[in-house]
Amino acid sequence: MALDPDELIALDREHVWHPYAPMPATQSPLVVSSASGVRLRLADGRELVDGMSSWWAAIHGYANPVLDAAVRDQLGRMSHVMFGGLTHEPAVRLARTLVDITPGPLAHVFFCDSGSVAVEVAIKMCLQYQLSLGRPQKRRMLTWRGGYHGDTFHPMSVTDPDGGMHSLWRGVLPEQVFAPMPPVEYDPSYVEELDALLREHRDEIAGIIVEPVVQGAGGMRFHSPRYLTALRELADEHDVLLVFDEIATGFGRTGALFAADHAGVAPDVMCIGKAMTGGYLSMGATLCVPRVASGISRGDVPVLAHGPTFMGNPLAAAVANASIELLLSGDWVDAVTGIESGLIHGLAPARALPGVRDVRVLGAIGVVQLDHDVDMAAATRAAVDHGVWLRPFRDLVYTMPPYITGDDDLVRLCRAVIAASEVG
Ligand code: PLP
Repeated sequence: MALDPDELIALDREHVWHPYAPMPATQSPLVVSSASGVRLRLADGRELVDGMSSWWAAIHGYANPVLDAAVRDQLGRMSHVMFGGLTHEPAVRLARTLVDITPGPLAHVFFCDSGSVAVEVAIKMCLQYQLSLGRPQKRRMLTWRGGYHGDTFHPMSVTDPDGGMHSLWRGVLPEQVFAPMPPVEYDPSYVEELDALLREHRDEIAGIIVEPVVQGAGGMRFHSPRYLTALRELADEHDVLLVFDEIATGFGRTGALFAADHAGVAPDVMCIGKAMTGGYLSMGATLCVPRVASGISRGDVPVLAHGPTFMGNPLAAAVANASIELLLSGDWVDAVTGIESGLIHGLAPARALPGVRDVRVLGAIGVVQLDHDVDMAAATRAAVDHGVWLRPFRDLVYTMPPYITGDDDLVRLCRAVIAASEVG
């Protein structure tokens, strides 16, 4: 028997620990009873346009008939099977597609169950690669400040240690090398700074890890793709591996299929997740070039000792195949460019608001940055009153809508972002 909404909220508050929230919670969540297209339907009958794509993953919206059918069809065959010693068509097809669509010589795919684990695996690959080459002291990653790479321990260690989401863990996390945040526009002196850091820590650095073009949850900042070209050159010159974390930027979000494509640069290791399954099921992947795999396979321990239980899950792989096919067979570039124009136009009035520091748009990402931390509860309420779901944080009110968002919903979304910025 279905719970009535009040009972559901009471039980939720008693038992369920929500992300980035205290226990017991100080705020009640909204109860979603169903979702289709770009709309979330609440238990109390209200409908909200989802401006968040469920944390940037549901690029095709909800209840997409093609994706629903892919899950149903796969469910009729096999929902899960272990990946050690066994394989199956959905995972093999997905691996082949990922290799085809990702930049450059990325050739091998390690599947896992979330973005954070994809980053764990990427860092493990870098360290183990160096270990296999007889350089055990090379076990730090260079990254830039202002980043975010996930919530497990290695990803936390490359998230900004000052003011980032995980600064509590300073001193506990593996110690990494932090470069300043990349300036928005290309600045050669910044590249010289990176070069100097790589020289200074020459004996310790295994790899460089960055979010290309957009630093997401660390502050929704954009930077010139030219830095990616510079990083590629620096990584080669200093003989360290280059890792791009495309978990947020992958699958078209920035207007290129992968953010690395803005610069035509290929990393040695790449992490993907979120939109890979169209937001249907949890899946991450770490891709690497042959040099990394063969280096690891020549080491004293010639295996990558990692094997999540739900690795390569057939349901997730099947819906990922369907989602990527749907994306690539449609006019995703037009869709994302249309959203970009709508956001540029619709968010422009925010520039005139008191307390607004910056308004920026790239692809299907629209950001209003305030000069103070947002009152999250008030800003969320304002958006909901405008029929929109947003999740502002720190000094940011932003939207990353599904690519199927139509013009009228985009107008509504922009009005809600502005309203949330006004009260926040
Ligand atoms: N890396 C980036 C760039 C992200 O934006 C995120 C999540 O927001 C992650 C890693 C972690 O992914 P997940 O939440 O699937 O563990």
